[in-house]
Order: sequence, then C-alpha cells, then structure tokens
Amino acid sequence: MSGKAWIIPPQAGFLPTLSREILRRHREDLSRVTVIFPTRRAAHFFRYYLGRHLRGSFFLPRIYAFSDWVNELAVRLDPRPIIPPAERAWWLYRVVSGRPGFEQVTESFDRFLPWGLRFSEVLEEFEREAVPLKDLLEPPEDLPPHGQAFLSALSEIGRDFREILSGAGVTTPAARLRLLSERLPEVFSPEGPVYLCGFAALSRAERFLFRRLLELGAEVFLEMDPGCRAPDFLAEVLRDLKLSPEILSRPRSRRPRLRFFAAADVHQEVREAARLLPPDPETPDEVLILLPVAGHLLPLLYTLPEDLPVNITLGFPVKRSLPATFLLLLFELYEKRLSERYPVLTYLSLLKHPYARGVLGAWAAELHAFETRLRAHGSPYLSLSEIEDLAGGVDPLRRFHREFLEVFYGVKTPRDFARVLKEILHRVLEPHRERLREARENREILARHFLYAFETEILPVFESSSFSGEPMPLEGLFRMFRELLQTVSAPFEGDPLCGVQVMGLLETRLLSFRKVIVLDANEGALPSPEEINPLLPEGLRPALSLPRRSRQEALERYYFDRLIASAREVEIFYLSVTESSSRLPPRVRSRYVEALLWAEEKRKGELFTPGKGPVRHLSLSLTAPEPFPGIPRGEAERREVERLLSGEISATLLETYLDCPARFYFRYLLGLKPPERLTEYDATALGTLIHAVLEDYFRPYLGREYLPREHNDPSRLLTLFRERFERDGLSRQLGPERRFFVEKTAEFRLRRYLQSLEALPPFRILSLEEEKRREHPGLGLRFRGKLDRVDEFETGRVVLDYKTGAGVRSLSLRRLREILEEARDIPRVEPTLEGLRFLRDRLPDLQLLLYLFLRPEAGEAVYVQLASGKGREIFKPLFYRPPFSPRSGDFLREEEIEYLRERVFPALLERLIEHLLAAPYFFIPEKPPGCRWCDYLYACPGRKRA
Ligand code: SF4
Repeated sequence: MSGKAWIIPPQAGFLPTLSREILRRHREDLSRVTVIFPTRRAAHFFRYYLGRHLRGSFFLPRIYAFSDWVNELAVRLDPRPIIPPAERAWWLYRVVSGRPGFEQVTESFDRFLPWGLRFSEVLEEFEREAVPLKDLLEPPEDLPPHGQAFLSALSEIGRDFREILSGAGVTTPAARLRLLSERLPEVFSPEGPVYLCGFAALSRAERFLFRRLLELGAEVFLEMDPGCRAPDFLAEVLRDLKLSPEILSRPRSRRPRLRFFAAADVHQEVREAARLLPPDPETPDEVLILLPVAGHLLPLLYTLPEDLPVNITLGFPVKRSLPATFLLLLFELYEKRLSERYPVLTYLSLLKHPYARGVLGAWAAELHAFETRLRAHGSPYLSLSEIEDLAGGVDPLRRFHREFLEVFYGVKTPRDFARVLKEILHRVLEPHRERLREARENREILARHFLYAFETEILPVFESSSFSGEPMPLEGLFRMFRELLQTVSAPFEGDPLCGVQVMGLLETRLLSFRKVIVLDANEGALPSPEEINPLLPEGLRPALSLPRRSRQEALERYYFDRLIASAREVEIFYLSVTESSSRLPPRVRSRYVEALLWAEEKRKGELFTPGKGPVRHLSLSLTAPEPFPGIPRGEAERREVERLLSGEISATLLETYLDCPARFYFRYLLGLKPPERLTEYDATALGTLIHAVLEDYFRPYLGREYLPREHNDPSRLLTLFRERFERDGLSRQLGPERRFFVEKTAEFRLRRYLQSLEALPPFRILSLEEEKRREHPGLGLRFRGKLDRVDEFETGRVVLDYKTGAGVRSLSLRRLREILEEARDIPRVEPTLEGLRFLRDRLPDLQLLLYLFLRPEAGEAVYVQLASGKGREIFKPLFYRPPFSPRSGDFLREEEIEYLRERVFPALLERLIEHLLAAPYFFIPEKPPGCRWCDYLYACPGRKRA
C-alpha cells in the first residue's frame, strides 16, 4: 500500500466530521486547501458546516464538485466545448448513415435520435472506463439489425465519431475526463493540500486521475462503516489505488430508532409523514424526506403545511407541467390534422387549456357557448376558417390561430422550430408572468422548472446544434421534442439550505440528517428500476471489459445504508397493496426494508409477526357510506310518474325503468337530454339509417310474397344504403379511414342478412314501420310501439325488430318454461329493489313481449341482430318457434305461448306498473348496467357503484 484512506463512519456524520478535520489541520490558512466532492450538494453542505464553525470573515478552501473541477482544468488542455447528447446523436447519424445494417433507422434524423442517444451513451461508457473499443464478432441475435451492426463495427464507428467531433471542434464529457486523466500534471500543480472526499465507485478514467492526484500528494477520505465488510466497489478502489484504510473517528455505538409504516396509498403515506415533521426545522440537516418516486412530489407538497420551508433537490419529470402540456397539445393537434382540417376534439382540449384561456382574454368567457356550437355542428374535422366562421369571426380566435397554429406553416429546420417555440411560449406566458415570477403554487414552481430545462437543455439542441439548419419535417421535429422531453428532469436544486429537505436517493450522498423519513420503500422504487441500454445486455458487458450493472445496485444499497446509519430517527413508509387490479398492481416492500427488519429481528432474537414488531399498518380512515337506496321521491315525483303513465307508454320507457330507475328519473322525470357528444361515430344515427334502408328495400314487396332465393337483390340493397349514407350527411362526419370502415361493415352486415333469409321459407310482408297502440284491459293504460316489420309465414305471423347495436338480452327456452311453471300464481311484487330484480329477471325481452301484446294475432317475435358476430345467430326468436329456431320439435306449445302472452306477460306488466307507481325511491340497482357510458353519470349519486 502506498498511502492512507481516511475512513469516516456514517454514524459520525461524514461532512461535519470532515469539516472539523479540515479546520483542525488548516484553520490558519484554508485558502490553499482544495477539497473535491463527487456532488455539488455535498460541496454545498460542506461550506455550510465550515461556516458553522468559523466566525467572522475568512477565506474558504477551494471547494469543487468533481465534474466542475474536471471541466475547469480540461478546457486548458482542449478548449473544445462539450455538446449535449442530442448533438452527439447527430454526429453519429452522419457517421453511420449509408453503412449497411443501419438502413432502418437512418431514414431521417428524428427516427435515428432515440438510437443515436443509446449509441453515444455506449461510446461514452467506453471512454469513461478507458477501455479500447473492440468489435463484437457475434453480436446477440435478439438485437435489431442496427444494434448488431453497431456492435460489430464499434472500433471503426468510435474512431470515425472521434474524428468527426474533432473536425467539428466539439467534445464530450467522457472524452474530457479521459484527456485530463492522461495529462493532469500539465495543468494542475497544487499549491496546498488536496482532499478527495466521499467518492465511492470510480470508473477507470477516474482511477487514473486519482492515481495522478495521489502522486501529487492528495489525500482520500471515504465514508464506510468499519464494522462491516467494505462493498466490492470500495474494496476495488482501495486495492487499485494502493490505499490502506485508517479510521479517522470511531463512531459512537448508536443505532437509529427505526419505525416502519405500511400504507394503503400515496395519499395516506404523505399525510402520515407530514404528521411526523417537526413544526419548524432550524437547521438543514434536521429532517430529510427521501422521495424515491419523483412523481409523488406533488402529492407530498400539497400535503405539507403551507408555511413549512421546504427545500427540494431532485430531478422531476417536467412533461406534466403546464407549458409542456400546452406544447404537446399543439403538436398533437397539428399531427392529427387531415390536410387543412383539424380534429375538433383535440382543438377543444387545446382551447380549454389554462394557457389558451389566458391568451384568449375576455373572449374565453364565450368558450362554453362556442363549444356547444362546435358540437352541434357535428363535424369532427374543421378547417381554421370554418372554425372562425362558427365563432362569428372574432378577433381573439383569429389571433390565436395565427399565433399558435399557422406559425408552424413556415417551419423548415430545427432553428425555425426553436424560434416558433420561443415565440409561442413568450406569448402564452405573458399573462402569467407575475405569478411565475413569484412561483408560490406548485404548478407555477413546476412551470418555472420546465422553462429552465427548456432554455438550457431543449432549446439549444434545436437552436444551435450542428443540425440546426438542416431541413426536417415538422412531424419529425415534434418527435424529437418529445424524445428530448422524456429525458429532461426539472433540476430542483434546493437553495438556500434551510427547512425540510426533500431529495432523491442519489442526492443524499454524504449528507446526514437527524431524522430521515423514507417514502415509497417498495421494490421498483428502492432500488430504482434498472435503466438498461438494450445495446449492452448484462451478459455482454464482461466480453467488452465493461463493469457489470450490478455495481449500480450495490452503490444504491451503499447510499441507502449509510443514510440510515447516519440518522438518529428513521421512519420508513412503504405501500402495501396485496390485491391486484389493473389500476393498482400489488406492491412488495423493498429488499432494503426486508434487510433492516431482518437485522432488527436478529438483534431482538425474535421473529416479528403481524401486530408485533416495529411495523405499523396505517389504518384506513374509511367511513362506511350511508346506505343509499336511490333518489327519494315525494309527491311531485309521484304526480309526474302518473302523468307520464297517463300518456302512451313505450317499451323504451319501461326498459329504462327496469334497467335503472335512477336513469328513468333523469330521462323521463327531469327530461335531461343526453349531452351532445362530438364523436366520429354516431351509432344511433347509423341505426336509424339502416332501419330506413331496410324499409326502402322491402317496400316494393309490401302486401306481397317475398321469396328470398328469388327476390334477394344485394346490389339494390347496397345502392340504397350508399345513397342514404351520402344523403344523410353521416359519411361527411367521418374521417376517411373511419368512413371506409363504417361503410364496409354496414355493407357486409346487410349482405349477410339477405343471405340468412335464404334459409327461411317464403313469407308475405304485412307491414313496415307500423305504429301500433293498445289499451291494457286490466290497467286501463295505453301502450304503443313501432314495429319494424310484420311477416306472415306458413307457421304464423311474426313481428321483427332490427337491432344494429350490441347483443340483446333474452330468455332461454328453459327459463321460459320455469316462468310458465311459477306463473300459475304470480306473486305480489313489493315496491323494493328486490321486487325490481324479480321483474327484471322475468322481463328481459320486454320489447318483443310488448310488440306481441300490440299485435295479438302474431304468434312469434324476433330480434334481427344485424351486428351479431355469428351469422347463424342473426335471428333471435322470443319463443324459439319455427322457422327461426334451429331446434326441431323442442319449442313451446301453442297453448303455452298463449298463456305466456295473455296471462303471464300482462300480469308482469301490471306488477311493473305498480312498482313504478309505488316505489319510494328511484332505486339504484346494486349493479347498475353501463354506468360508465351512462349519459347521467356525473349527475347521478349512484355512479360510484359503477
Ligand atoms: S350512472 Fe349508473 S346508477 Fe346512475 S343513472 Fe346511470 S346507470 Fe343508473
């Protein structure tokens, strides 16, 4: 061994101990001392600790974060600027374009970018590890062709890449590091002591550099628990640098107090964590909230007390910030347009964005009315001038189109794109400037961080890269923007040091806190999910002389263990979700938690069981919902129901009540119209059209016999369909792909229906779209219905009802027989939910039954299911009578049908009407059908059961 590595145990607090040691050694002349840390945050806290010990004015040592120190010296050797990853990808694009194997990805730069970023990361890693590039003779076969081509020509591509960068006068961070490691003495001859503090795993280039520094007299301080075996990466550093560990300060033998909390969800854990915070932390090392899932920052901030000072240091994904969502919506609108016409739904989403409202000024108050007009117009695609006409040509909207949409028309290059983005953001942020400056609310804080990332990381890529002047399609520029946005995090850099610290694990390196609160200590978060470059699978790394990925996980464990060991109190929260569902996958507590619990069990000599031990399951403060049977009805509702029943009663009204009385209430009593929706596909309109087409088709045979094999005329049927499809305007509402799909599907179904008729004997068409009314003898009420068609077969008359939507509910033959059995004595039905269920079970075919009641001379009623998946199920007869039933002989006898029609059904109808009149509530069924698609979902108190 050639030197010492001073070991500071985490329990002693690395930075406070180091600051005392540096002061002990150099209090008289700190200014000649150089201290280098792996992170800026550690350097920041070190200054804070020095300041705590020193009074009055003094010269600080030179304190560096390692990357800043490397940059400062390396530019003296090579002043070429560093280029960002996207620009590195551009130069690689130039290198590999035209090479065999890269054809799939070099069609355009925007397509190449995601791969280019990975390729350049691989080359950087080789540089950091100071490993010569070598070609892989047999790259893994599961890699895409360009991945294989890259690995099999690594040395040539790497050489060309270096040359092209050199020619362009630029360099990369790893190249700088390597250069400095090779030529340090040329630019660094320290006047005073140099301390390398708190480093853990080192790449090979870093180790070369450290060796040179040790030769110049530098000393090393490491953080390590002397009571534990050194992690492999630290042992490797000690061995490689020929350092023997020497303990600087013996730790006090104290263990942190550990508590564990199992929470049901994020909101519960952040609420409980907030309760554990001291009201006014005085020093920055008093309390830390470790946040492994950056996405949970906002729930946390919304839960913390408003007046609590909070200092955030972590990378937060900015794509959900308001400026980012505005830009992404703009891009989406632009990308989805068909020629000059824009999709109205996306357009409306953009107009409703808070930033769009801001620039629309006072006219934003008209948005609601304008939206109604757009929806009423019905077309899913409109040109900007059509939209402006609909809005009455108002100026704010015209200006909006000009300044936010038409500005893209002239964009040809990334530089144009950058200019337009800057203009857009400038305009859109103008009304919010004051709020953004103060940035008191979380969304403004996030917006500010997006803008910082935009200015420093995204904009320069488009504005001043080597490819900024290259022509590129707009859609490609949108793709590039999204790709870059994925990689950008808001660099929350907590400053000044005060209040509660919120950090990610990597940011806590070398720091120690009295109290540590760990959130989301679950697998998948702690350790962080592996980011594997698909080009370098784990098995390949040793073959290329690169370190294994497992080092990364060992590093994270080291950071976690040292953080816990350095604290006095540790509160660990994890989410405990055992039930799996598509929304909430099961969560397993982190292996780090398991290790801590196991250590506690060993220490106490007992196994913890549920309810015993340091884990507390946070109780859900759920209040059982009050039983809520439905919407109560009073005298007014009762009178309104009576008024409804005094008119003509339709099958739809009764079916609505049977399905969901609450829906009946909204629709028939309150008369709420379903909201107008702007969709590309209006199933009701298409259903009405098909009914009309079939009526037109069969009309020449009204009163005549129809011989399917002889009279079927598919081409006439399809002509009738196409004419109506064009005439009714339905086709104009659909985009070209959807129009094609709808048209072909409808044609296929109509043609298939005619074919299915060929299996039937000839029939006479008695009526088409016939309105029928009949009074119920017992109830004295009038019922009505519109019968799509009535045919006469040799076996009797049949009522047909066309169905163009999803399948129908009906009774099986067995169930019909059971109802017949029990119906000898139909019981009284209580006006309860149970009573409603009884009726629903017996009346799924209410519409056909009512039609038979309206047409008593008909012996059968049939649904014609045009959309049925199976051709043989097009006909769904009520009583399974020939000629529609595939069964032979197994159908109801005439007298049974007669009994069902004349006794059972009228009696059930009576019970239903009694229920409707007497029920104290408009009940909400236990399992209401189709709440998710219900028109009254947002008005209905029963929606939570959906
Ligand atoms: S939301 Fe559900 S419960 Fe409410 S009316 Fe609609 S279907 Fe019925």
